[in-house]
Amino acid sequence: MYQVNIKEGVQLDDYRSYATLVPAFNAFYNEALLLKRSLKDRKIWMINSTEHGGGVAEMLPRMISILRQLGLQADWLVMETNEQDFFSLTKNIHNLIHGQPGAEITAEDKALYERINKENAQQLTKYVQKNDIVVFHDPQPAGMAQEVKKLVDITAIWRCHIGLDFSNPSTDTAWSFLLPYLQHYDHFVFSSPEYIPKGLSGNVTMIHPSLDPLSHKNRPLSLHKLTGILNNAGLLTSSHPHLYPHYQHQVERIQPDGTFGPAQSGTDIGLLFRPILTQVSRWDKLKGFFSLMEGFVELKKRTPNDSQDRAQERIRNARLVLAGPDPASVADDPEGKQVLQKLIEAYVGLPDELKEDVVILTLPMNSPKENALIVNALQRSSYIVIQNSLQEGFGLTATEAMGKRIAVLTSSACGLRNQVRNHIDGRLLQHPEDPDEVAYYLEELLSNPKSVEEMSFSAEKRVLDHFLIFQQLTSWLNVFHKVLPAEVRS
Ligand code: UDP
Repeated sequence: MYQVNIKEGVQLDDYRSYATLVPAFNAFYNEALLLKRSLKDRKIWMINSTEHGGGVAEMLPRMISILRQLGLQADWLVMETNEQDFFSLTKNIHNLIHGQPGAEITAEDKALYERINKENAQQLTKYVQKNDIVVFHDPQPAGMAQEVKKLVDITAIWRCHIGLDFSNPSTDTAWSFLLPYLQHYDHFVFSSPEYIPKGLSGNVTMIHPSLDPLSHKNRPLSLHKLTGILNNAGLLTSSHPHLYPHYQHQVERIQPDGTFGPAQSGTDIGLLFRPILTQVSRWDKLKGFFSLMEGFVELKKRTPNDSQDRAQERIRNARLVLAGPDPASVADDPEGKQVLQKLIEAYVGLPDELKEDVVILTLPMNSPKENALIVNALQRSSYIVIQNSLQEGFGLTATEAMGKRIAVLTSSACGLRNQVRNHIDGRLLQHPEDPDEVAYYLEELLSNPKSVEEMSFSAEKRVLDHFLIFQQLTSWLNVFHKVLPAEVRS
């Protein structure tokens, strides 16, 4: 178990300088001043199993930094083990919770899970003090609360970031394994009511994930900055001078023969000029890349080449950008590599004249800051952003686009329908696996730029009102208040 060094980063006053953030910031700040009084000397601890990668690791430093700037004590600890089998087991539990087939959990697995949790719990007792509030994130450290509580009287909260809106034998296996450990918690936090497992007893609060509007992935970009980032990343070619040098690691694009090459080799992608339809995701089969590409290709095929109709011309000009992590960076994700490989094969099989309209990009992950800026610039260069997921816990990519005033086309997977209102912030499709349906919605959106523009304004407002880090922190402070003993609260 080790303590992560948290950089202070963006200051509370910085948020106040952005007019559109002020209402959400002030609402949070005023409530936070009241709620923090009752926390007095109680320290807030966040415990998870990784410092890097994933939305949780991205959000925790910002949350902790803001809590500290409010005058609260907060810290982040990461559990550790050298035993890789522990992480294979917890990856299996993760897949099972998502309803995927997986291995049975054996008595040996249970012993391993309990041993690693116990070892980490013993270390945790060196950090925490009586009455501290400890938030354990996801299944990996879920077995720690019972061990810590034997030695120190803490308040334990379990925060589950994953879930599925139906149960099947896989989910049953995972939850029947976890439930006995969960009995030792004082409170639970889930992202959606659908994700609460049968048999869980205790108080539950729902907290949506959210975004930090001043992070590199979401911060405003002037047109000048945006073109600079596209240029630095190799996504735009220009002979004009640029303030910053090219990024050391460039975006790569799948070439017509299926090899990886520079993003601007052959034909120019047309970012900033063409209606760009973008999906940014991990290369995961549940993200719906294949049917999205098929639907787009189908729409292109049926659109006449010679029509003067403006909507049809827009469809002819449209390009689909499918972007995900450079496979070299996901060495620990063989499934992801396979998905990308299959997608490349499907791409190579497309008719030649359509290949330049489908742009598969791999984004370098070496620098989190550069990766975030590239995602930011790609989303901002899009006519719409798509998230065609078959399943989705929340779907931050949709939130990120909406926060940038970009309308979205998403599936109705649980996390996405929680944030996107059909016809208001974007369009929700019912059957992400059906290319015909995808084509139908793409055609509708490309034919109605005015309604896309209207939805984009609602989308931005939706995020400002509900899905910023401020709303998430307000909910957390309310949870911390709720778990205090009655005499402290009153
Ligand atoms: N993402 C990224 N680079 C990539 C692909 C994805 O930064 O090459 C980010 C994306 O912007 C989002 C996150 O990864 O912030 C994915 O979160 P989401 O909730 O959409 O899906 P998850 O990956 O958690 O299933």
